[in-house]
Formats: sequence, C-alpha cells, structure tokens
Amino acid sequence: MNSVKKYSNNVNPNWCPGCGHFSILRGIQVAADHLKIPNERLVVASGIGCSGRLSGYMNSYSFHGIHGRILPVAQGIKFANKDLVVIAAGGDGDGFAIGTNHTLHAMRRNLNITYIVLNNQVYGLTKGHTSPLSEVGFVTKSTPAGASDIPLKPGVLSLSAGVTFLAQSFSGFQEQMIDLMIKGIQHEGFSFINVFSPCVTFNKVNTYQWYRENLKDVTEDKDYDSTNFQMAMGKLIETDGLCTGLIYQNTDTQRETKLYPTSQTPLVQQNLNISIDEFNKII
Ligand code: SF4
Repeated sequence: MNSVKKYSNNVNPNWCPGCGHFSILRGIQVAADHLKIPNERLVVASGIGCSGRLSGYMNSYSFHGIHGRILPVAQGIKFANKDLVVIAAGGDGDGFAIGTNHTLHAMRRNLNITYIVLNNQVYGLTKGHTSPLSEVGFVTKSTPAGASDIPLKPGVLSLSAGVTFLAQSFSGFQEQMIDLMIKGIQHEGFSFINVFSPCVTFNKVNTYQWYRENLKDVTEDKDYDSTNFQMAMGKLIETDGLCTGLIYQNTDTQRETKLYPTSQTPLVQQNLNISIDEFNKII
C-alpha cells in the first residue's frame, strides 16, 4: 500500500481542480508515512474553510472544529494524551482573523503539536472575500476598489510570539514542503508551517506562477542560519515574508518540559481516573 492510500480514507476531496490544498493533503500523508506514524496515533484537526475539509480526508483520528478555534482543540487533544501526534490545519482566515489570539498564545505555550496554515490569501469557501493576509489593492466583490488594510505578516508575528519552529513552503514545492513537514512533526515544541497554497478560483493574483516568481528559498543565502533569531527576522523583513524553507528553529525545549514533564501521565487519566479506552467510549 502506498503512503497516500495508507493515510487516505475513501472520501474524494471536493476542492476545485487545481486547488493548492491537494498538494498539502498529500504532503501530510507522505510525511506521516515517512515517520511511520501508526494511523491510530495520528490526529489531524482542522478549522473551517476550504482548508477545514482536510481532516475529513485522512485515515486517522480527525476533528473538524469551529472557525478559528482549532488550536484550542488541538492543544486539548495533546493535553489529554501526549502520546498522540497532533497536526492542526487551517486557512489564513481561520488562523489570522478570528483565530489570531489562539494562534499567538499557542505559539508561546509551545506544546508539541504541528500547525499547518493553508495560506491562499483569500476566503475561498465564502466565495472570495479578503482575508487578513490579502495584499493592499486586492480586488474582490466585497472590496471592488481593492483591499485597504495592511496585511498581517504571519512569519514576523509568529517569531514575535515566541514560536520555536517556523517554516514556509508552497504547494508547488512538494519535496521542500514534505521535508519541512517531517522536520516540523519531529520538532519538540510548537511547529508552525505556513504553506502558500493557491486558490485557483478566487485569487487570480497570487497564482502558482506568481509564487514561483516571487518566493525566495532561504538556503540560497549560504550564510543563512535558521537557529539565528535576528537573521530569521531580517530575512522575513527583507523578503516581505515571501521566503521558503526552515526560517527558524529553537531546539531548547526547556519551557515545555518544565510545564508538562514527560513523566506526566495523560491528564484524562489523572483527573478522571479512567483509562484511555474508557475515555474514548465516552467521547
Ligand atoms: Fe481551493 Fe479556492 Fe476552490 Fe476553495 S475555492 S477549493 S481554496 S480553489
């Protein structure tokens, strides 16, 4: 059985043909296969939006949450059973509009989960209005004169919030994206992977071609050091966030281990005094 089949259920994704999200779904499945994560130890939780459908296509535990709240759900899952590999996925609207507060606080809390943002700089599911990551001047039906608000910068924001792993990639760069997903899942702490994922239906500006022409790989700079915070911040500013690769990684996990010692048994067992099997029956 190939890796995609092992982690796929029998539901056909109903994304538009050409949507960047197909590549991200496959990337997660290939990364999970590479790491040999048992299906029953993998949880994929997703928010609302076209991206939110992703968890419904996985042969793993999955949770389709409410808009902007997938990180509280993902953190709760990890709290309940630290042995699970938890991947949260959501769109740029989900993570950087209604969910911004959760995103920033989850980053500074640094639980060992992976957060993948399927970033198409637009709201696709609700028919193409501006997201907080849309560029100034982006024309939609609801902003016919062009978006006027300055877009948030997820990379700079996440570093400011104390994220310990930041990577960026593009749906069109499968090999790089999968490698970063593997590294993100292996990272002991909160890993944030911002994937530029073209919406072929509602974003006619940030297309596959546009990203190929505008994204710069940080490894083009031979002196780039992803453990150097100042260099990471500088690269994001210099490229206006349009860079890919492992932008920053802080491998000091002291903060997490102090808060959640590895000797700690799952909270569900501590607090409710029941087994995981009993808990699973309840939920
Ligand atoms: Fe993908 Fe855009 Fe279609 Fe949604 S509307 S499935 S984001 S192409």
